[in-house]
Amino acid sequence: MKKINRKNFIKTAAISTAAVSAGIFTGCSTEQNNNSAAVISNKHYEWKMVTTWPPHFPILGEYADKFAEWIDAMSQGRLKIHVYGGNELVPPLETLDAVSSGVAEMGHGAAYYWAGKAPAAQFFGSVPFGMNAVQVNAWFEFGGGLDLWKELYNDFNLIPFPCGNTGGQMGGWFNKKINSIQDIKGLKMRIPGLGGKVITKAGGSAVLAPAGELYTDLERGVIDALEWIGPYHDYLMGFNKIAKYYYYPGWHEPGSSLELIINKNAFEELPSDLKEIIRVAAGKVNISMLADFESKNTEYYYKILNEGKIKYLPFPKDVLSTFKKLNKEVVDNITSNDAMSKKVYASYKKFQKNISNWYEIAERNYI
Ligand code: CA
Repeated sequence: MKKINRKNFIKTAAISTAAVSAGIFTGCSTEQNNNSAAVISNKHYEWKMVTTWPPHFPILGEYADKFAEWIDAMSQGRLKIHVYGGNELVPPLETLDAVSSGVAEMGHGAAYYWAGKAPAAQFFGSVPFGMNAVQVNAWFEFGGGLDLWKELYNDFNLIPFPCGNTGGQMGGWFNKKINSIQDIKGLKMRIPGLGGKVITKAGGSAVLAPAGELYTDLERGVIDALEWIGPYHDYLMGFNKIAKYYYYPGWHEPGSSLELIINKNAFEELPSDLKEIIRVAAGKVNISMLADFESKNTEYYYKILNEGKIKYLPFPKDVLSTFKKLNKEVVDNITSNDAMSKKVYASYKKFQKNISNWYEIAERNYI
């Protein structure tokens, strides 16, 4: 990329209007025409996309469906993608293996599911007390995050793309109040990933249970608490009917990124225009899904509030600061045992520190 200094910037700004009218940015140049001619091909492709979501699952599965529709439209039918929900072709947690081996050409899910195969993967999904959706996208695109992600997934014969984000989640549903860190002792909570490790360190036990069993598990006291996503999805699951308190913030998932993974050989076979169409569609999912989450969570935040049956409560400050301290121990343990995790987290942490200072000035003061 051309280096921008003040002089260049002013010069560029001054000529941009003229450049547009001269067709420089409108695809009219000779060079552009030559490139386009080289890539147009009538070859048709039929691909499979496996996902970690139940079929057509609200927002997450819906955007996998939309992704395929947009690609169909943009490619004029030259790239057809058949979307499979979890268990329709392979079990949800075999998504990575299926794409890696070429059983399916692409997959949609979240990187933290692959922590068992590559510990560093979880830093591309969600980090407790980590960056929010906007910040993490800045790291991916301009802070070296995506390059590290590609480096990690190269060993699996995969190319990753950021492809959606849940935005900030909620802290979860509880039937007893959390007044101090002592209240976490003995607490059985459904909470996956790094957040689960923090709860365990605090004396609780992190339980993993399939989505379909969560409602009855909480209702019957098999678990004492659970976190799921945010007001929209949680309301659809009916947790507001069986829990008393809805805690915030979602310290463990401040902005969970979702991923598109593509089998490297399959991607490299595509003509360059179809490759670009995939990149554009993944980018559109990345923006639109977050907007959809934020909009529906706002609506359902009020819906739950206005129904008046449950109380929104903040975690006490000292509970959050203890979680934060324990999280550092969890992360240190991962990075000291895995060289790639160390490299990825060093980049993540540095970017987070800098962007947090910028947010302090620009965003927090504004809010
Ligand atoms: Ca969650």
